[in-house]
Amino acid sequence: MKSGRHFLQIPGPTNTPDRVFRAMHRAVMDHRGPEFGVMAKGVLDDLKAIFKTQNRVFIFPASGTGAWEAALVNTLAPGDPVLMYETGQFATLWKKMAERLGFEPIFMQGDWRHGANAEAIGAQLKADTSHAIKAVCVVHNDTSTGITSDIPAIRRVMDEMGHPALLMVDTISSLGSIDFRTDEWGVDVVVAGSQKGLLLPPGLSFNAVSDKAMAVADAGGTKRSYWDWHDMTGPNDSGYFPYTPATTLLYGLREAIDMLLEEGLENVFARHARHGEATRAAVRGWGLDILCQDPALYSNALTAVVMPDGTGADALRQTILDGFDMSLGTGLNKIADRVFRIGHLGDFNDLTLMGTLCGVEMGLQRAGVAHDKGGAQAAMDFLAASR
Ligand SMILES: *Cc1c(COP(=O)(O)O)cnc(C)c1O
Repeated sequence: MKSGRHFLQIPGPTNTPDRVFRAMHRAVMDHRGPEFGVMAKGVLDDLKAIFKTQNRVFIFPASGTGAWEAALVNTLAPGDPVLMYETGQFATLWKKMAERLGFEPIFMQGDWRHGANAEAIGAQLKADTSHAIKAVCVVHNDTSTGITSDIPAIRRVMDEMGHPALLMVDTISSLGSIDFRTDEWGVDVVVAGSQKGLLLPPGLSFNAVSDKAMAVADAGGTKRSYWDWHDMTGPNDSGYFPYTPATTLLYGLREAIDMLLEEGLENVFARHARHGEATRAAVRGWGLDILCQDPALYSNALTAVVMPDGTGADALRQTILDGFDMSLGTGLNKIADRVFRIGHLGDFNDLTLMGTLCGVEMGLQRAGVAHDKGGAQAAMDFLAASR
């Protein structure tokens, strides 16, 4: 029996605020009845502010992986080349999915410590004089590495090359925590999920879709049924869906959107930027390495911390879980056991962060990991001096 709250500091799923839980605590209802339609229409409209778009936003009852698939099958035909960039494990998984679905990913190699290189993408596009490449797919915030790629820079090179490929961006762990501007940045398809910056439990995923991408989908794509955007448009216009939506989660989404807009999106982003900076101050204070090697691309949603040589990240995480009832993110794939990840996204304040960082520092000590004292102190100093 444990007392007090578990600290869920993985970079998603994140902690759902009580306000969102209370909004979901209601009777299951008729998803074709009038009350639901009014609520869902409002959600579909107000989501546009979160995505910073005038485009349609589709909601699928699915994990984020479903919205990845929807983005690909609506826009690409079997055999279509698609340019993807290895920013980490999530980019790798999206590329594997593209292969399994019969597309031809050109996977640009990355070292998991830097973001998607816009210049290199530009060079690939320049070489593609026949415009065979139908889409450029990038993960905005690769949750495995804590690197936030520069999406406007990628849009710029695409425009410079005059390349007509669609730009598709995974924002599953950035939307609602790190600034993302669908329309201003010319993103054709946005992929998002409910359980990271959007304050909800897992179970919803999203595609924001430009007119250009919608036209491509209507003219072709791959055979699809469940993920078809077009089927959504008619019912969505009046707040309904072609199949049973996740009604309860949508009531939670209504509340989550309200919370984000009440705080103000720019304030939400500033809060996460401040907590990201404080976390990095702590990591430096411990004398440990931040996995991301480009300070301009540090993620404000999570920080991946590199373990000193010879010590395992998973043993440290286990020590922290056993001793302090806190879950931290594990290292994935190439960096398994080499890094641990501190989530600082979603419903989060200064004391949540300090509880988290104190737990890490106590864990480093208890697990016998070589480190300097004073990381948590450095974060406190930063937080006390800034607001
Ligand atoms: C979590 C995550 C995914 C996968 O989402 P699921 O909801 O687990 O399917 C994909 N991309 C990024 C960047 C993520 O953070």
